[in-house]
Amino acid sequence: MGKGTEKNTYDAIVIGSGISGGWAAKELCDLGVKTLVLERGRNIEHIKDYPTATKGPWEFPHRMEEPLQVLKDNPVISKCYAYGEDTHHFFVKDKEHPYIQEKPFDWIRGYQVGGKSIMWGRACQRWSNFEFSAPQRYGYAIDWPIRYEDIAPWYSHVERFSGICGDRDGLEALPDGDYLPPFELSCVEAEMQKKINAHYKDRFMVKTRWAHLTKPEPIHLQQGRGQCQARDLCTRGCPFGGYFSSVSSTLPWAKKTGNLTIRPFSVVHSIIYDEQKGKATGVRIIDTNTKEEVEYYAKVIFLNAACLNTNLILLNSTSSRFPNGLGNDSGLLGKYIAFQNYRASVHGTYEGFEDKYYYGRNPTNPIIANYRNLHKQDTDYLGGFLTFVYANRGRQYWNDGIGADLKDSLSEPGPWHAGMYIQGETLPKESNHVRLSKDQKDPWGIPQLITSVGYDDNDEKMIKDFLDQSAEMLEISGVKNVTKRDTHQAPGLDIHEMGGCRMGHDPKTSLLNKWNQLHLCNNVYVTDGACMTSTGNQSPSILYMAFAARAANHAAEEMKKGNI
Ligand SMILES: Cc1cc2nc3c(=O)[nH]c(=O)nc-3n(C[C@H](O)[C@H](O)[C@H](O)COP(=O)(O)OP(=O)(O)OC[C@H]3O[C@@H](n4cnc5c(N)ncnc54)[C@H](O)[C@@H]3O)c2cc1C
Ligand code: SF4
Repeated sequence: MGKGTEKNTYDAIVIGSGISGGWAAKELCDLGVKTLVLERGRNIEHIKDYPTATKGPWEFPHRMEEPLQVLKDNPVISKCYAYGEDTHHFFVKDKEHPYIQEKPFDWIRGYQVGGKSIMWGRACQRWSNFEFSAPQRYGYAIDWPIRYEDIAPWYSHVERFSGICGDRDGLEALPDGDYLPPFELSCVEAEMQKKINAHYKDRFMVKTRWAHLTKPEPIHLQQGRGQCQARDLCTRGCPFGGYFSSVSSTLPWAKKTGNLTIRPFSVVHSIIYDEQKGKATGVRIIDTNTKEEVEYYAKVIFLNAACLNTNLILLNSTSSRFPNGLGNDSGLLGKYIAFQNYRASVHGTYEGFEDKYYYGRNPTNPIIANYRNLHKQDTDYLGGFLTFVYANRGRQYWNDGIGADLKDSLSEPGPWHAGMYIQGETLPKESNHVRLSKDQKDPWGIPQLITSVGYDDNDEKMIKDFLDQSAEMLEISGVKNVTKRDTHQAPGLDIHEMGGCRMGHDPKTSLLNKWNQLHLCNNVYVTDGACMTSTGNQSPSILYMAFAARAANHAAEEMKKGNI
């Protein structure tokens, strides 16, 4: 081995430093594995690199609205609800990262150390066995190779360290975890909860689970994080470390072990496969500053570039053994992409409780756990949905006077608004896929990704059911002037894309085994959304964290045994 090679050799390489990569790195480093994290974006340091975290709206040149030219230059990313003058530095610029939309797909990305964990919404419900067994029970996608019991201890592991708040509700469709105390409901939410839970036998509105430190424990204080102050400015980065992100939690923890190296500005081009050894030996990167190509080597490689980029890297990792992408004898890599449906919502106003307000800006919402197609198919579509609920007070309308009258009226809270929005399962289909362009490349010479992903009739039926049921629930809970809304937004804007490299029992119908290893190249693990066999209806990121932690422990064990 030459000197250069030795210098570039680690025990493990993790591609991507976001939610799942941060967890893979933390676990590997805790287990004494020398780990290199390769990250295409710039470095972000907790606190220091949150330039807007403590600014008031008046301190932004455009009062937090983006100028029209910026919106025109960024038609995709600016659709994201969390994008704005206060957060735009954590999102990609559309023109710098081209891809090809064969069907409309709003690909929302954050390329930096920490990935999207900096701007994510932080909802963290566990999957139940209803989701893990649904494909097998109802005959869609393929059977998951694991069940809830396999992943439950790893959920606990990541919940305790990350700090997830929530109640223990004892619902089969929403398994309880290891939670910190929940945020309180607003008085109108509490009223809605009372009325909905009394009216329906099978619908439960609960305070749900979010990655916020409501009451930090010693393990969180050891990470240098403190109590959430209920400011609801989380997407700017939280100087208190009040919510979980890779940069506030897993990566600094891994760094302290002395086993972590992070290389930012390193876009992974492909994984190197050694035909003689029958395994992956390293990773080829392009330095985004110098455009130089560099190779790094390791015994084990974790793919955590987020769902679509992980598919891209694998498709681009060709060799004479794997001409269609690493581990892709089945030809299924990039296929069966699915996502969660966020198109539908219902809204209205609430009369009463005008003498009530609440403390702070609660950064969480209650939910109604999925009540569709649990024990049996009880609708004309497959899959389930989770319902987010909110009720809060805005300010008075701007037309209430001028001068001192206007100021006085603005200091009074406005009417209560209440609503619900969907997080719905979509069904994986072979036709919903991504593939590489044969002739168009990105600025680093890597083939551009083509997205060909759309809704289907099943989704339309689910949306209709959600709208009808949710409007009824709002009315039952006392909400007036109820309106239904379908945004018809393209897939992608949900930011919950999954699949393309799914887990399964059989290499003929899946890419990964039950430990997230490629069936045909077992020293490569995929533990981000690409591994998902179906989407379920729960927020997925905490499951990626649990998969990453479980797989990292498996990989460390396998390395010790000499199996990889
Ligand atoms: C506004 C918003 C709200 C959200 N709300 C929720 C929520 O409430 N609950 C929930 O569960 N999820 C939520 N999500 C989704 C959540 O952020 C993602 O599911 C999660 O971040 C995925 O983790 P990941 O590790 O796969 O990817 P990421 O966190 O995106 O990290 C991937 C990393 O890989 C890097 N990378 C990509 N390609 C390469 C390459 N070729 N070479 C090197 N590095 C590469 C990227 O730069 C990035 O840093 C939300 C997302 C956003 C943006
Ligand atoms: S709500 Fe909590 S986590 Fe979010 S920015 Fe405020 S203190 Fe931080």
